[in-house]
Amino acid sequence: MKFISTRGHAAKVTAAQAIAQGLAPDGGLFVPETIPQLTKEDFSALCKMSYPERAAKILSLYLSDYTEQELLEDCRAVYSESSFVGGAAPLVSLGSNLSVLELWHGPTAAFKDMALQIMPRLLSRALGKTGEKRTALILVATSGDTGKAALEGYRDLPQIKIIAFYPVDGVSRVQKLQMATQLGENVSVCAIHGNFDDAQTGVKQIFGNAEFAKMLNEKGYFLSSANSINWGRLAPQIVYYISAYCDLINAGKCKFGDPFNVCVPTGNFGNIFAAYLAKRMGLPVGKLICASNSNNILTDFLSTGVYDRNRSFYLTMSPSMDILISSNLERLLWSVTGAEKTASYMKQLSETGKYAVDANTLAAIQNDFVGYFATEEATAQTVLQFWKDQNYLADPHTAVALYAAQTYVKESGDSAPMVVDSTASPYKFANNVFRSITGKEPGGDLEALEELTQLTGVQIPYPLAGLKDRTVRFTEVCKPSEMIDRVLQFAK
Ligand SMILES: *Cc1c(COP(=O)(O)O)cnc(C)c1O
Repeated sequence: MKFISTRGHAAKVTAAQAIAQGLAPDGGLFVPETIPQLTKEDFSALCKMSYPERAAKILSLYLSDYTEQELLEDCRAVYSESSFVGGAAPLVSLGSNLSVLELWHGPTAAFKDMALQIMPRLLSRALGKTGEKRTALILVATSGDTGKAALEGYRDLPQIKIIAFYPVDGVSRVQKLQMATQLGENVSVCAIHGNFDDAQTGVKQIFGNAEFAKMLNEKGYFLSSANSINWGRLAPQIVYYISAYCDLINAGKCKFGDPFNVCVPTGNFGNIFAAYLAKRMGLPVGKLICASNSNNILTDFLSTGVYDRNRSFYLTMSPSMDILISSNLERLLWSVTGAEKTASYMKQLSETGKYAVDANTLAAIQNDFVGYFATEEATAQTVLQFWKDQNYLADPHTAVALYAAQTYVKESGDSAPMVVDSTASPYKFANNVFRSITGKEPGGDLEALEELTQLTGVQIPYPLAGLKDRTVRFTEVCKPSEMIDRVLQFAK
């Protein structure tokens, strides 16, 4: 299996090369040249497997330069009971037609762990496979969840160092403390004076600085990225959609071949694109429901074909979806229209902040996707409703998706089984969950964890329990202009 660029002007590479490089040299994203197909026999075999075995099997179809033994070893090490307590991707039934796919049982309590636990190991092996002798220096700009998940995934891996930058006032108390108490000899964390865009721009400038790259090279380093445009983040996300279908079949909720719908709370479009790929591999997904918060640029795109980022930006209680540029949408455009048009749309986006796809492209996209969005009020209402009616505690991102799924069912009358992704533990956003349920203010952001568990009796997951008693290791704050010095100092 080889990988090509969505913009059509880069050489084909192996999976290991795609993972080590991150972005294609023409500015596009790596995509698999062909989409492997799953047969009925494959599905019946997968249904009998454990999650790590399913993951190794599906990854092996894309990562053909890794042996099945290597993948099985890594998947077993990563998706273990001790790390993903209660299972890697358990499917929780909420009535006959609705199931919640809980993707947050990993070591940082958000769904980013599903990919960021395995991808570092894939990168580690890629360094060996591509003959790379230098140390990979991973730079991350984070608005909260990605930074912590990446730090945890890369910690103490040989030949890799990682540094995460976050806006000093732009992440929650829980997220800040999670990063500040990070363990590992090869990790560093630095807050910056500025917002998330300043952090991201700082990181992009460092990546684009050829002189700096040369200097790092002389010290035996090269820069690499951990964000969701890397193919290594996407491939592991295909697994849980196929796994969820196997679990539906095993639970007698559907027969092989029956369609089911999937609803995904969407930010960068990575998670829902993985579901689309699973569908293209032969998984009988009916509709892919793209759920957004008030930053509803994708809802508008899916209904009109116009992608326009010239609009207001809102800070919401589902901050991991507060995004106006959904980078992975580029992969969908490539799948539907090919490289030439994709390159032209991306050029328009960077020059004018806007593009409009043609009618055929829109029709093809609407065949698979439909978008809905939840206001802040609807999100809070949904958290309350699911707690009251179902005794189910949903985080705000999950609530956005539950709201979108319900709206879709009401409007379409579609009664196929619905799988809704749950992307964070409710305790990661305990303050807003507490407010939604009680209508009252918690004693504070950290206090909200205790108050929520006392109120609901739902256990705090292990990565967040005892957080306030852990030793703080990283307290530094720098200006965006000092980020580059910080990286250099870390590289030594
Ligand atoms: C990252 C994230 C999302 C959005 O996922 P994308 O792949 O960027 O669409 C949704 N919910 C949570 C909790 C996240 O951390």
